[in-house]
Amino acid sequence: MKVIKPRILIVEDEDAQAEVLRYNFEREGFEPVVARDGEEALDAVDENLPDLVVLDWMLPGASGLAVCQRLRKRQETRTLPVIILTARGEEADRIRGLDSGADDYVVKPFSPSELIARVRAVLRRARPALAEERLSYGDITMDLAAHRVTRGEKPVRLGPTEYRLLQLFMERPDRVFSREQLLDKVWGRDIHVELRTVDVHIRRLRKALNENHTTDVIRTVRGAGYALDATGT
Ligand code: CA
Repeated sequence: MKVIKPRILIVEDEDAQAEVLRYNFEREGFEPVVARDGEEALDAVDENLPDLVVLDWMLPGASGLAVCQRLRKRQETRTLPVIILTARGEEADRIRGLDSGADDYVVKPFSPSELIARVRAVLRRARPALAEERLSYGDITMDLAAHRVTRGEKPVRLGPTEYRLLQLFMERPDRVFSREQLLDKVWGRDIHVELRTVDVHIRRLRKALNENHTTDVIRTVRGAGYALDATGT
């Protein structure tokens, strides 16, 4: 089955460095996306919210620091994890880097494996679900190791697509996902699938989850998308 890969936005203007990072993140099971400067980075974030941003300090145009501050000011990206890459070792710069709202920083030169370890640590703090083998929400449990889903004590049978949809929802309960985001996260950006296919699979997921239950846990948010919601609406 396809595992949902954490999406890492790499903002780095030096091609060789960007390529090394892209290659290593991909090999380690991430989905890397590269932007060359701050503008490209903000566009990439708008287009598809990453799980974490690796942001070079020295960029043409707006500095990494300025980009980080802009991300922090926006509602959607206020808590988006950011790791700043810096060639400057001075204490003041490090502190400024952390003042900007970055979650961590890595001083150049570094090895890709060192950066990836820091990325994993920040992601674990930001989204503990990524490191868990078992996800729970309300009376639903997903055992990721055994690939089993239960609601109440009863097993829920899901097709592979419904399983991935549910995993995505369970990793970020209460968050509303647009159909475009679901399409991208679950099917992948390279596959051409129509938006209404998402609705079809949501319907199947809903049916499987709600069998024998009265509370519908999938919330349809008109004009916005879908969310997991156990409060019962
Ligand atoms: Ca640079």
